[in-house]
Amino acid sequence: EVFTPKLIDVKYIEGSSDKRWKSMDFPWTKKLEANNRKVFGNHSFRPNQREVINATMSGYDVFVLMPTGGGKSLTYQLPALISPGITLVISPLVSLIQDQIMHLLQANIPAAYLSANMEWAEQQEIFRELTSSLCKYKLLYVTPEKVAKSDALLRQLESLHSRGSLARIVIDEAHCVSQWGHDFRPDYQGLGILKQKFPSTPVLALTATATASVKADVVQALGLVNCIIFRQSFNRPNLWYSVMPKTKKCLEDIDKFIKENHFDECGIIYCLSRMDCEKVAEKLQEYGHKASFYHGSMDPAQRAFVQKQWSKDEINIICATVAFGMGINKPDVRFVIHHSLPKSIEGYHQECGRAGRDGQRSSCVLYYNYSDYIRVKYMLSQGVVEQSPLTSGSRGAFSASSDRVFETNIENLLRMVSYCENEVDCRRLLQLVHFGEKFDPANCRKTCDNCSKMVSCTEKDVTDIARQLVELVLLTGQHYSTSHILEVYRGSMSQIVKKHRHDALSLHGAGKHLAKGEASRIIRHLVIDDILVEDIKKSDIYGSVSSVLKVNQTKVQRLRSGNQAIIMRFPAPTKASRTSKSDITPAKGSLLPEMACPQQSDTNGQAQNEIDLNLSAK
Ligand code: ADP
Ligand code: MG
Ligand code: ZN
Repeated sequence: EVFTPKLIDVKYIEGSSDKRWKSMDFPWTKKLEANNRKVFGNHSFRPNQREVINATMSGYDVFVLMPTGGGKSLTYQLPALISPGITLVISPLVSLIQDQIMHLLQANIPAAYLSANMEWAEQQEIFRELTSSLCKYKLLYVTPEKVAKSDALLRQLESLHSRGSLARIVIDEAHCVSQWGHDFRPDYQGLGILKQKFPSTPVLALTATATASVKADVVQALGLVNCIIFRQSFNRPNLWYSVMPKTKKCLEDIDKFIKENHFDECGIIYCLSRMDCEKVAEKLQEYGHKASFYHGSMDPAQRAFVQKQWSKDEINIICATVAFGMGINKPDVRFVIHHSLPKSIEGYHQECGRAGRDGQRSSCVLYYNYSDYIRVKYMLSQGVVEQSPLTSGSRGAFSASSDRVFETNIENLLRMVSYCENEVDCRRLLQLVHFGEKFDPANCRKTCDNCSKMVSCTEKDVTDIARQLVELVLLTGQHYSTSHILEVYRGSMSQIVKKHRHDALSLHGAGKHLAKGEASRIIRHLVIDDILVEDIKKSDIYGSVSSVLKVNQTKVQRLRSGNQAIIMRFPAPTKASRTSKSDITPAKGSLLPEMACPQQSDTNGQAQNEIDLNLSAK
């Protein structure tokens, strides 16, 4: 039986700005301070930890958005320790759970876990302990499929609840609920049953990655009520971002980059395929680097060995698929290089986030060419892309909506393409906007390639184009995604566009003359300005979702009535464009027509030189 999430209004209460959660006068404050010091060995709390703990201890549903490494675990482990009863923790990966339990047991906090592939006798033993009135466990970890598939577990929880012993329900890595996230886990969608069965038990949902739509999805799917949200800035000021053109000389470029900027320092190179990992590692060894590779088809012992070598600085560089990185806490990673296109901005942000945990300056360099987009897209369609460990092995289980999953993947990938092709806007702004965060590019202080470019920009009035795009969204009934609207605007003659051509007759092809990427940048700008809104639409009983562009009726008035001008910065036109072609020319009618031309322009070459200068001038 499929659990269908109820459609509820998504409302949040902002917790971060509410002083009451900082208070030191809660009945549990003394205990909290003492246990944080004595049991966990911490001198103080990190940003938002105390606030989150106070809110969940007060019985509210709480949603926590905190960067990786920010200290989310403490916000439920400490409450679990000082609350009567047991805390249920849903976590997506057995290896993560085992790691947590090891740490808890070391600190003398009794904890256990249940997973689907555990011996029956072992499970029985844990169930027996849970039934006992003197249950010793403070935390019980389970994987999501355990909740979805085990009636025995639900009965246990009901029994604990009826005895007043179910203190709290924690959903770790909560973004897995959402198909918008880069780690969609079908079994997470069934977790809404917990709030249905135990409406009075506080739920604490934690994640490091959530866009506005992921957030709405999570709150809705879990059925959180009057949820208090705590979030903090995702900006990482010590990371320097740049995008470089990827050519045939890519590995030489990488070698040069490392030797000039991070010689003998520690870094990760993310590669698309297992084969790439091995090839890149081999080449770097030839160039004299201490490099090795890490991917999903190595056996666990081999992987553990490589990871250990890397942690102990016996090797500097690890060439890995996204399978590498979960739970890695190495503080002195000086660079994260993407050898090919990441699959989403969220994934990219998280992978980059593994650099510079110690706060020291670190580099994030992405090598991009358009043909990688075709390659990733093809691999996604074949289901052969290596997933992060969170998602591996769980895709097929939700086949009813697998087309949707694919569409979402492509949408995420296209956003990454448009990030790479953007030569103007601050990289931080582009990433943070994606997490629903406002950011003033002046605060970048030239720590990204676009902000540090000497290339002059010109301001352009794009009000007319903006108005046309808004009209187009309205004329087509506010039913379509950004990429669809762009196709109509650029005058695509593909089947799906033709179908809706009559609605938008006058505007079909109105944007033909625009330079590549311009229309999509303008749409993104309108979304940032809240004039257009990217909405999610639940489309069937499986709760699958798609992105729909809508018009914010109140904000759009000024634009439509001619009282608002939209001014944007564009790179000043360069004289001659170098003519170099990438190895694959995209087929006509590809999803985003204005991206159909691979970007290998002059400005890019300039940018590359400047980045070299920038990074070596440290
Ligand atoms: P997240 O789940 O947010 O990625 P973790 O909960 O795994 O982060 O914590 C990351 C690291 O930070 C852990 O090693 C943890 O012990 C440490 N940590 C968490 N809170 C504090 C604190 N208040 N003081 C010092 N160290 C902390
Ligand atoms: Mg965590
Ligand atoms: Zn910038």
